[in-house]
Amino acid sequence: MTRVLDLLLNVPRRYEDRTSTTALDAGLQPGRLVLVRGRVGAVGAKRTARRRRASLVSAILEDGRGVLPMVFFNQPWVAARLDRAREITAFGLLRRSPSGALQLVNPEIEEVRPDDVVERIVPVYSAIGRLAGRPLRRATEQALEVVERCPDPVGDELCSELGLPGLVESLRSLHAPPVPGDASARKQLVEELNERRSRWHRRLAFDELLALDCDMAARRGRRVRQRAPRCTGARGIDERARSMLPFALTEAQKRVVGEIAAELEGTVPMGRLLQGDVGSGKTVVAALAMLAAAEGGHQAALMAPTELLAEQHAATLGGLLGDSAGRIELLTSSVPPAEQRRIRSDLEQGTTRLVVGTHALIQASVRFRDLGLVVIDEQHRFGVVHRQALLGKGRAPHSLVMTATPIPRSLALTVYGDLDLSVLDELPPGRRPVRTVIRTSSSRPRLYDFLRREVEQGGRAYVVYPLIEASDELPVPALEASRAEVTAALPGVGIGVLHGRMSRAEREEVYTAFASGSLQVLLATTVVEVGIDVPEATVVVVEGAERFGLSQLHQLRGRVGRGRRPSYCVLLVQEDVSEEARRRLEVICSSDDGFAIAEADLELRGPGELAGTHQWGPTDLRFADLSEHRDLIEPARRLARRLLAEGRLEPVREGLAHYHRHRMATPPS
Ligand code: ADP
Ligand code: MG
Repeated sequence: MTRVLDLLLNVPRRYEDRTSTTALDAGLQPGRLVLVRGRVGAVGAKRTARRRRASLVSAILEDGRGVLPMVFFNQPWVAARLDRAREITAFGLLRRSPSGALQLVNPEIEEVRPDDVVERIVPVYSAIGRLAGRPLRRATEQALEVVERCPDPVGDELCSELGLPGLVESLRSLHAPPVPGDASARKQLVEELNERRSRWHRRLAFDELLALDCDMAARRGRRVRQRAPRCTGARGIDERARSMLPFALTEAQKRVVGEIAAELEGTVPMGRLLQGDVGSGKTVVAALAMLAAAEGGHQAALMAPTELLAEQHAATLGGLLGDSAGRIELLTSSVPPAEQRRIRSDLEQGTTRLVVGTHALIQASVRFRDLGLVVIDEQHRFGVVHRQALLGKGRAPHSLVMTATPIPRSLALTVYGDLDLSVLDELPPGRRPVRTVIRTSSSRPRLYDFLRREVEQGGRAYVVYPLIEASDELPVPALEASRAEVTAALPGVGIGVLHGRMSRAEREEVYTAFASGSLQVLLATTVVEVGIDVPEATVVVVEGAERFGLSQLHQLRGRVGRGRRPSYCVLLVQEDVSEEARRRLEVICSSDDGFAIAEADLELRGPGELAGTHQWGPTDLRFADLSEHRDLIEPARRLARRLLAEGRLEPVREGLAHYHRHRMATPPS
């Protein structure tokens, strides 16, 4: 059943400007949509001769200044309505009839009384289920009669503080916009409404964001009331780091490690988002936090979105931490079953302190004796549900979620609104910007020459493809189809292949060979997008670059520029790539700031496409447009936090839940 609220929240799809009636005098022009008002005469109905089943109703409209014929095709019932009506409005397109006279074809008509005001901005609705058209408009009009009863969850006081209209006013105005007296103001209002920029649209958008933020704030409230495992001694960890690491921490890393250590020593469970551009050194921070948890007597788990990345992290952690916290286990679905069983048993007994894994970590069969810290890498690849599942394996563990910057900061703060933020805003020293260029596929021969020279000088290269196998539907470069060509073009060069369909053993072999230099060129899919760290790599070529999101390209580019040699990123596009796609790619060429690129990506492609078509966060926002309403994101978040602090969150949250439902999407695992 359609509820009143469903009707009221079914905001018009568009609006028609019927704010002025056109007089039936000599000035009428064909091709215009007009609203005319007048008396009906000479109603006639007939069946057309050519196709006997078609009907034609004709009539004339007369307003004292002139007359206008109207014709209605296949609406025989209109004749009776016209007969009954004395005065009507007709809204429709002026056209020339075959004989050259102006007429209205299939206009929308409405009976009016002499004193009725007919100038309106008319809402046009999308159907709700099977309810559509005129009945839907009627039902909505009826619902509007009780709009006063809709409680405003934000309240007058906060609304005026925020400069937003009340909820009742907003709902009423969206369905029955007030018509300004002034003609140019009318035109402007219709435009605003059609572009969903009106203050009433903004109010609904704000509420929707606030609903999301309130849920996040509530989540935060629940967390901080719990009691976390204390990791005594955590504060000394950066001192310890000095002797363990092959490099000095950057100032940003020191600051963030300090923030984390202070929380690990406390009893309030940490919930921290670590944001840092690709290459800023998040892994080391995670490693130190995990070490602090282990030395404090607890277990720590790190979850990564791909097996390849989990494998690499296990190796990196082993390298950084040595055996200072015991063996570091790797748990993924590629680990042999017997080995998995042993790891699970060791985790349950507590004899293993540190584990790295994929989604395999959140299987029901995985149990910890005393999970003190959860780290999630590349959080934007996971859903909130995954984080929650891993957290649920401890009593109230600390958590650190890490993400590069495929999400603009303001948005990240909403999606991760339950967390505190740490930022790595500094790259390790000695990095050089990656020279990024766009080339069309015709320059492949020269590109191969370039790759050969790079390899001769000790460099290594990734070539990334959008697809593994060629497909008939998509004219896109594919890895397997290009393999022979690359091999022929680079004689004597060690070429490896890496993609998600290979077994763990195969992958490990190829990756190790590339990291050690016995393979110098890696043909890969986007499995190398996240996390992969081979400092000697100097070139990344992206085939079919126009098919990737900007943030994704930024991530891919982040695979190089990690060593001392100058690095390059070559974006290969089809010859006939559109101007628009080219302009988009130029953003990457001219910026190496992940935040700025994420903003541009949001603007150019919309949030659904962020992070390379991976879904995350609120997918079913109905009113808020994360780009259009960007300026509302921060105020909504601040308000939710404030309500939490003032103990006023729950009533607002419940009130909003009445109007706005949302669901956090979980990306497919
Ligand atoms: P990301 O933040 O993208 O996950 P990583 O943790 O993979 O970055 O680090 C990128 C590279 O920088 C790695 O090779 C890492 O060893 C190196 N690195 C991290 N911190 C420092 C530092 N303080 N000085 C020098 N190199 C560092
Ligand atoms: Mg990383």
